[in-house]
Amino acid sequence: MPELPEVETVKRGLEKELVNHKVLKAVIYYPNIISAPILSEFQQQIKNQTIHKMNRYGKWLIFELDDYALLSHLRMEGKYFFRTKKDPISKHEHVVFELDDGRELRYHDTRKFGRMYLLKKEDIYHVPPLSKLGLEPWDNLLTVKYLKEKLKNKTIPIKTCLLDQSIIVGIGNIYANEILFMCHISPFKKSNKLTAKELEKVIEYTRKILKEAIEMGGSTIRSYHPREGVDGLFQQRLFVHGKEHEKCPNCGTMIQKKFINGRSSYYCPCCQK
Ligand SMILES: [Zn+2]
Repeated sequence: MPELPEVETVKRGLEKELVNHKVLKAVIYYPNIISAPILSEFQQQIKNQTIHKMNRYGKWLIFELDDYALLSHLRMEGKYFFRTKKDPISKHEHVVFELDDGRELRYHDTRKFGRMYLLKKEDIYHVPPLSKLGLEPWDNLLTVKYLKEKLKNKTIPIKTCLLDQSIIVGIGNIYANEILFMCHISPFKKSNKLTAKELEKVIEYTRKILKEAIEMGGSTIRSYHPREGVDGLFQQRLFVHGKEHEKCPNCGTMIQKKFINGRSSYYCPCCQK
């Protein structure tokens, strides 16, 4: 699943290709990808809109158009490819945006879990899906006080809360494992039991690790490619994720793998007590 750094990489790649280009028309082969508005309105509204800027909020890609914003979530396997009219449509290409220079931007998704919304530009942060989301890792409002407030009634493991997109957006499973390892916090620790000092570390390492991952182009686990032919390097920098047969780089204890709320969690039982 693409995580925030991969989505940021995709955003930067698309921005280079798309800014100042016009969407002439959208052809939709699998209507369930479009969550809102209804299909005919989606196609009507996006017609002849120019793409001015690419943005991202959490794992949502935001295409800023003249009057609207197109929100796109890649979920498990969504990808964007550039093709031309001559290229046959593959069975996994569900939405095709015809551009003003003859290229086509095609949304490809083998699992079909991805979703798109076309919303009035001024509304995007006030209506779902973005209105339900928490803070971006680099938001100045993300403070120890904010986390204390959000976590005060939560007795579930901190690992689960780090994945909760209504608290901080964009921390996926790989990064949650790495962040807790760097903070020396047990993934099982009850969320409301974290000290101010620990919360400070969580904020610090969330920013540090995600920034580093963005600079390296994401982690690229399995089939995910931010852009064709470009692999992320961050995977080489993972300390615990996927390392259950390896020793902790700090203390030499074997890394453990356990499931927390259905998600694979890797940790050092000695460093993360
Ligand atoms: Zn250790």
